Amino acid sequence: MRIVVASRFFKTFIHPTYRAFAFYPWVFVRSADLSSNSQIVRHEQIHLAQQRELGIVLFYPIYVMEFLLRLIQTRRGYTAYRTISFEREAYGHDHEPDYLKERKWCAMWRR
Ligand SMILES: [Zn+2]
Repeated sequence: MRIVVASRFFKTFIHPTYRAFAFYPWVFVRSADLSSNSQIVRHEQIHLAQQRELGIVLFYPIYVMEFLLRLIQTRRGYTAYRTISFEREAYGHDHEPDYLKERKWCAMWRR
């Protein structure tokens, strides 16, 4: 994993509420201080694990399609985002330091 501080890119293209995103094998963060925030880094590492399993070619289309389905269901952008399978797994475990050591295959779709 490589962490890239991309302040200008975030300022220009990314909504102010987003602090980081994963694009295998990189994690892009809005500011340098975020690269030492272990919960944010772990959250993005979980997305990297998901992307390793599915490949970028499947991960992003599935992510966007699930977001749109959740948006239709919930009619709320933030709720739709938080209920995407990939985000449920990442938010559900980004506070657990050892999560990635014990994570199961395609854990985003397991209950
Ligand atoms: Zn996330």
